[in-house]
Amino acid sequence: MDTTVARKRLEEMRGDLDRSISILQGERPAPLAGAGYPQDSADAGSNLSETDRTEAILHSARSQRNEVLAALSRIEENTYGRCVDCGIEIPEGRLDARPDAARCVACQAKHARRHR
Ligand SMILES: [Zn+2]
Repeated sequence: MDTTVARKRLEEMRGDLDRSISILQGERPAPLAGAGYPQDSADAGSNLSETDRTEAILHSARSQRNEVLAALSRIEENTYGRCVDCGIEIPEGRLDARPDAARCVACQAKHARRHR
């Protein structure tokens, strides 16, 4: 299969994720910021949830970046487009929608269930 387009899209995705991750990391307060300053508990509470939210977004951006990097290395190894679990060819429509898809729909569903 022709992986030129997939590679280009994956590299764009990686670039976007890199930018998002560095922006999110910039927004995240330093661990000791505010230490030594009295804070009322309402403020501390809202800061915490904001940090949690940023952490959650960062976490999903990082894991998506890992998926994209893994897909790029599958292109290098000529295994791109095959399900990493069962080895069947992933339908092109699925790869169009998700160039970083590592599994066919059936294996992805099983994988998602195992990790919930
Ligand atoms: Zn599969």
